[in-house]
Amino acid sequence: MSENLVAEIISVGTELLLGEIVDTNATFLSTRLRDLGITVYRKSTVGDNLERLVETIKNALTRSDIAILGGGLGPTDDDMTREAIAKYVGEEPYIDSKLYEELKEKFALRKRPMPANNAKQAWLIPSAVTLPNPIGTAPGWFVKTKDGKIIITLPGPPQEMTRMWIEEVEDKLPVSNKCLFHKIIHTIGLGESFLTEKIAKYTNLAVPGVGTYARGVGVDIRVAAVSNNIEEAKQIVEPVVKDICDILTGYVFGFDDDTIVSVIKKVLDEKKQSFCCIESLTGGMLASQITSCEGISSCFKGSITSYSNEIKELVGVKHETIETYGAVSKETAIEMAENAKKMLKTDWAISTTGVAGPAPLEGKRPGTAWIALVGPNVIATDFVDWPGSREMVRQRVCKTALNLIFKNI
Ligand code: AMP
Ligand code: MG
Repeated sequence: MSENLVAEIISVGTELLLGEIVDTNATFLSTRLRDLGITVYRKSTVGDNLERLVETIKNALTRSDIAILGGGLGPTDDDMTREAIAKYVGEEPYIDSKLYEELKEKFALRKRPMPANNAKQAWLIPSAVTLPNPIGTAPGWFVKTKDGKIIITLPGPPQEMTRMWIEEVEDKLPVSNKCLFHKIIHTIGLGESFLTEKIAKYTNLAVPGVGTYARGVGVDIRVAAVSNNIEEAKQIVEPVVKDICDILTGYVFGFDDDTIVSVIKKVLDEKKQSFCCIESLTGGMLASQITSCEGISSCFKGSITSYSNEIKELVGVKHETIETYGAVSKETAIEMAENAKKMLKTDWAISTTGVAGPAPLEGKRPGTAWIALVGPNVIATDFVDWPGSREMVRQRVCKTALNLIFKNI
């Protein structure tokens, strides 16, 4: 086996080819392999077809050390991953009596009879070791071929697949002699093309590799290097990370697992301050994004959805303000935040009001919105004017609101 291990991921299932499900399994496997220092050379998707599956395994193993197959381990005739591997290695599958008993027990526990075709899930071939699947019926296989290559097969359901990979597979993999160190820099408030212009001196480097990805609330920058040991790789990555952070001062909000909300939480917790939100066009979307952060109750008090003008007035926005300036106005946004801050007794409050579309409102274009942040001696506002679908507009407003909080706290 080569020292710098190379793997390929093969996703199996006609539903993937038809676009009926998203291939989240391959994404998960890619990140795990990356962290193990194993190069992912190629990803393929194959329908439930025996000949094409065998051909894909064959092609993968002419280039790579490891072929990882996901899906096609169900009991039905169209699930043919086991058949394909058996055919590729030239072995005849047999029913393993231990696996068969375990499978029968699983059905007995669920008080259901075991259909005859499930017996296939107790198959084994001489070169395969079973990968147990306590949360499903399909065990996986870890196969060593005669020429020293590895074939791994995993069940399709993501929970079963991730558990099996982490608990049953990673320890069995040969160790790559290459170490990869990478750091993700999270930015907010700068478009990808402006950002890449600013860090142009790095984006075409071979070592370290610097890539940008528009994701979540902003643009992420990934700085990565492969070396013989982790310290060496780190020493290549870290000075570049530092310099990029200097170039992008004011736009970087965190690294790796940080999210914009977890960073806001960290700052507010340190200051022992709290915040809340009051939402019109985002209708709870902002609160939902905020509350997806673990432990956020340490600083987030709650949210008011004041979608209609009546509710805006009910929480204290003046009738004249809405009449004079409109519901979608800076003045209304500020009064919404001021009143929410008072009602929910927080240090900070953020409001959103705008036109999600597709129809205009109060003569204002879809995609226009005002966001106001009110805090201790701070009133800050931002205006969004960018058309798109309702979802895009509402997401953009949430992003802008979180950025406004981040910049001002
Ligand atoms: P299978 O093992 O092919 O019968 O797959 C069972 C189910 O797992 C499928 O119906 C999908 O819901 C899910 N699944 C299979 N492959 C993937 C994949 N690559 N990514 C996400 N889900 C998948
Ligand atoms: Mg399938």
